[in-house]
Amino acid sequence: MKFISEYRDSRSAEAVANAIRHEARRNYTFMEVCGGHTAAIHRFGIPSILPPEIKLLSGPGCPVCVTPLGYVNKAVALSLERDVIITSFGDLIRVPGSSSSLWDAKASGADVRIVISALDAVDLAAANPDKKVVFMGIGFETTAPGTAAAINRAAGEDLKNFCVLSGHKIMPPAMEAVIREGTAIDGFICPGHVATITGSSVFDFIPRKYGLGCVVSGFEPADILLSILMLVRQVNSSAPACEIEYSRVVTAEGNLKAKALMNKVFQPEDSEWRGLGNISLSGLGIHDAFRYYDASVLFDGLTGEEEGEENPSCLCGEVLRGRKRPSDCRLFAKSCTPENPAGACMVSSEGACNAFYRFKKDA
Ligand code: SF4
Repeated sequence: MKFISEYRDSRSAEAVANAIRHEARRNYTFMEVCGGHTAAIHRFGIPSILPPEIKLLSGPGCPVCVTPLGYVNKAVALSLERDVIITSFGDLIRVPGSSSSLWDAKASGADVRIVISALDAVDLAAANPDKKVVFMGIGFETTAPGTAAAINRAAGEDLKNFCVLSGHKIMPPAMEAVIREGTAIDGFICPGHVATITGSSVFDFIPRKYGLGCVVSGFEPADILLSILMLVRQVNSSAPACEIEYSRVVTAEGNLKAKALMNKVFQPEDSEWRGLGNISLSGLGIHDAFRYYDASVLFDGLTGEEEGEENPSCLCGEVLRGRKRPSDCRLFAKSCTPENPAGACMVSSEGACNAFYRFKKDA
């Protein structure tokens, strides 16, 4: 297949679904760990054409969803500082903190702006030398290179009024945390965008160490169904491996330039994940050589509510670990909707609760 229309062709999808039906010999549970896959699975109605033996679980792959409450609170506190402009991707500003969101802070007069790239925030800093521009850097290996490029450029231009609050995370440690806490799965539909940067080799340890299958998947219906078929075959043949379905984009070694830039600007650090807690060396802190661009250093001692209690009724943490489905939450589609989210998983289009809500027939 070469064109998007071919990957979305209903006859192709049905043919792969029939192959899965034909080869399924037992029950299988696979976890998709990318929020993009969660959204695509529900958007294209994949569960409705799969045989009942196949169960799909959503994992901790939505960047906004896994960003912990403490980060949101810190962002809100930063937005209330004098002469600060907060810049962020759109979804994050609607995530509820303990008492307010960046959206609420903006409504109260804080200077919070949506950008589509970290480099836009650098431009904003250059245009506003009397302000401190703080970029909210969240996301996985997919967005981290963009943040690294922004910091690298700011350093190259000796820009002194730009910094980043890094909440960036890397995916493999979270997948290992899910395995170690005993979530019953037979394999992973691995994140295609992350693997475009990292290469598929970062997932090799999963079949080797834990005997679970891995297939790096694209985002069209035929991609996802083919990935499921590949996983079924791995299980049936007791031959777990790390395979690439998304071979038109992903290689084993990934994007070497992007990885080199990330390694230059970031260093591994322990990181807090919503639902999964603190995971060793799962975050990307800003390297000591770029300390001047680290908002957590520059604003050390920031007053404000940095920690706090999650909404006790929100099951986001359980949803992100594959323990609960969104529809298990009593707030789902009642007091929690995309227009009025009570938890992070309802905010982003990549969040499981948001995807279930918009395509409710699969909930
Ligand atoms: S439906 Fe809302 S409150 Fe419930 S788990 Fe999802 S985001 Fe949290």
